[in-house]
Amino acid sequence: LELRNISVDLPLGGFMTRTRLPILLDVSLTVAKGESVALVGESGSGKTTLARAVMGLQAVTRGSVIFDGQSVADPAGLARLRRDAAMMFQDATASLSPRLTVGYLVTEPFRIHGQPLPDPEHVARDLLAKVGLPPAIAARYPHELSGGQARRVGVARALALGPRLVIADEPTAGLDVSVQAEVLNLMSDLRAEMGLAYLIITHNLALVRHVADRVVVLYLGRVVEEGPTAQVFATPAHPYTASLIAAEPRPDPRQRRMDLAIRGEVPSILRRPSGCEFHTRCPMARDLCRHTAPALAAIGTGRQARCHFVDQQQNQPGVRHAVEH
Ligand code: SF4
Repeated sequence: LELRNISVDLPLGGFMTRTRLPILLDVSLTVAKGESVALVGESGSGKTTLARAVMGLQAVTRGSVIFDGQSVADPAGLARLRRDAAMMFQDATASLSPRLTVGYLVTEPFRIHGQPLPDPEHVARDLLAKVGLPPAIAARYPHELSGGQARRVGVARALALGPRLVIADEPTAGLDVSVQAEVLNLMSDLRAEMGLAYLIITHNLALVRHVADRVVVLYLGRVVEEGPTAQVFATPAHPYTASLIAAEPRPDPRQRRMDLAIRGEVPSILRRPSGCEFHTRCPMARDLCRHTAPALAAIGTGRQARCHFVDQQQNQPGVRHAVEH
C-alpha cells in the first residue's frame, strides 16, 4: 500500500458551503508486503480519516492511494483493494448486525463480494477456529458475546476472503487489559501464519511496541515523525512523539518525565497555529517555531521528523532515560 501526498479537505458547515477545512495534509506512507505499520496520534489527528481514505470511503482531495501498483481511484484498483484488504472496526459489537448470527456474519464478505460459498457452516467453523473461538459460537447473536469474543468475530470476518492487508482501527479500544493482550497475541500469530500486513490506527503505544515494525506519528493531519518502532521509542526525534511516550502510564509515577509532558489540548483545525503547528504545546518551542513551519526532513535511514531542532531533541539529556523505563 502506498499513499502519495494525500490531502483531504472537508466542507465546513455542510456540503453547500465553499469553505473547506484541511483534515489531512500531504501525508505519504507505505506498507510493504507482510509489514506492520502503526499510525499514532491523539483524537483529531486525522487517523480515522486516513483509514477511510485508504478504503475508498472518503474522497481524497489531492494525492493518490496505490495498492499493488494500481490507483484505487480506478474502479479496478478499488475492487482489488476491497478484495485483498479488510478493515477491523473500532467498535466491534456495533459493526456486527444484531439480527444476524455469528456464523452468517463471518461468512457475509463472501456474499457481499459475490464469491462462491458452497459450505457456509464449514467455512464459518474454520474462520472461528483461526481466531480461537469454538464452533458453537456460530449460532449466537452479537449481543450474546463478550467484548473479547466480539473483537475476535470482527477479526474472523476481516480474514474471510484471505486478505493480504488488514487495516485495524483501534483494535484494543474498550477492552480490559487481559483481553487486550489476547487480541495483540492473536494479531501477531495471524501475521506470522498468514503473512498479513497491518496498518494499525491507534493511540495505544503498548500495542505499537508489540505489533508494529514502523510507526508514523500524525499531528493535526500532518506526519511529524516516522521511523522503525524500536528507534522511535528509544530516541524520539520530535517533541510530540517524546511527549506521547512520556505520557504512557507507568507503574512507578516517579519515572514520569513531567518536563516532557504534553501541555493543553489539540488546537482546533479551525485555528491552526502559525509556524510549527505544535508550538502552542511544545516544551522546546522558540521564536523561530512561532512563525516558520519546519519541513519533514530525513534524519537517517528510514527516519523522518518535522522539527527545527531535531538534533537537540534526540540529544536532550534524559530523553533516552525517560523512554527506556
Ligand atoms: Fe517544538 Fe519548534 Fe520543533 Fe515545533 S519546530 S516541534 S515548536 S521545537
